[in-house]
Amino acid sequence: MIYLDNAATTKMFEESASVYKEYACTNFFNPSAGYGKAVEISKKLDEVRELLKKRLSVDKGDIIFTGGATESNNLAIRGSVRSGKWEYVFSEGEHPSVYNVAKALEQEGHIVHIIPLGKNGQVDYDEIEKVLNDKTRLISVMHVSNETGAINDIKRIKAHRDRLSPKALLHVDGVQAFCKIPFSLNDLGIDLYTISAHKFHGPKGVGALYVKNKQGLKNIIFGGGQEGGYRSGTENVAGIMAMAKSCEMIDTEKNLEKVKRLNSIFKHAISGVDGIEYIEAGSPYIISLSFAGVNGETLMRDVQDEVIVGMGSACSAKKAGNRVLQSMGYSAEKIKSSIRVSFNAYLDEEDVAYAGEMLVKKYLDLRERVR
Ligand code: PMP
Repeated sequence: MIYLDNAATTKMFEESASVYKEYACTNFFNPSAGYGKAVEISKKLDEVRELLKKRLSVDKGDIIFTGGATESNNLAIRGSVRSGKWEYVFSEGEHPSVYNVAKALEQEGHIVHIIPLGKNGQVDYDEIEKVLNDKTRLISVMHVSNETGAINDIKRIKAHRDRLSPKALLHVDGVQAFCKIPFSLNDLGIDLYTISAHKFHGPKGVGALYVKNKQGLKNIIFGGGQEGGYRSGTENVAGIMAMAKSCEMIDTEKNLEKVKRLNSIFKHAISGVDGIEYIEAGSPYIISLSFAGVNGETLMRDVQDEVIVGMGSACSAKKAGNRVLQSMGYSAEKIKSSIRVSFNAYLDEEDVAYAGEMLVKKYLDLRERVR
């Protein structure tokens, strides 16, 4: 089986699974307890905070461990909401863990602006500029699109923010960027940044939120006051330690070079076939493709014994249509014929070429059948 749905989740490294086991079964102590062994665990967690900050290339700020990106995104947004007439800005391309929070804020009576995407999948920067003002409280735009791989120009958004909405916080969902494309939070000047371990060969159900200035954030979960009061609940120590191991094992630059090769091998395998289209987005990890005249879901099922591809975001796959592709101007028919292919850096080049050929073969067969 050739697994090409790595934007949905990745396989955990064996080494990370060993670390997980160590901290689940041997060093299992509660980091909030007072005895030596527990204090050691608490120190380990602090080391992971430093590791993540280093990997994010950021000097100032804190890391709050969470139960994954959905929680990080909810904390970032809900934690930034203030009473009074503030405005909140999101892109149409956001993952449901941001988009649906935006919709909830709207229903609760807040002023919410949802910015459309351009044809290339990036947010429309001019539209962002138009809505920003000194009442903007939060701008939340993802780094890399989980649907198309489009990379938003965060520096450009920050420049608009600095000029027009100096009081606004900038939140970025970095789930498809962290440990995949190089960047520096010091350079980007982001206030809040979301990551999730299972997208970079770590365990599911663990992630983090980087916070530049905790004073600007309200907590949304009440309890024992762990994570400086910003995320109560005993930390998922085994998950956090395994996440750190995965992070340490990844060489972002080297992996990126490999994935660029895989991306071009795949594109070569499908090139020249009438009816297959894809957009040239930014991240080589993700390709959104359409297969004219066939149903993407049928094609996905047809190849699944040998090749696993995705139907856009796993979280939206069960729902009809696709808000992100729609915002990019895709017709309903093109959306139906779309699939998503996403790589990891440990795939075999020949397997990727084979997967491309397989998709072409099944596509041509299917097209014949539906004619
Ligand atoms: N944001 C993006 C961009 C994602 O791709 C995902 C996972 N599909 C999430 C958030 C949610 O991550 P988690 O599964 O860790 O809650």
